[in-house]
Amino acid sequence: MPKVKKTKFKIEAEIVKGECPTCCEITTLVGISSQFFRCMECGGDLEQHVNGKISYIPIMPSRTDGGKPYVKEWK
Ligand SMILES: [Zn+2]
Repeated sequence: MPKVKKTKFKIEAEIVKGECPTCCEITTLVGISSQFFRCMECGGDLEQHVNGKISYIPIMPSRTDGGKPYVKEWK
């Protein structure tokens, strides 16, 4: 009997295990795009950088004090 290939799921989210720099837990990181991952532990978003090696840096969370994260005075 011919093997019927199962329908491939279109899973676009990539799931990796890694240490979240935000909460310092070894946790599940779900890719929300090719570059960004979300920590399932604390919900923090991480950006994946590939510079010879892969590392994760936390994306600055939205600040509640009205400041714009990561953007230094643009003039
Ligand atoms: Zn985390």
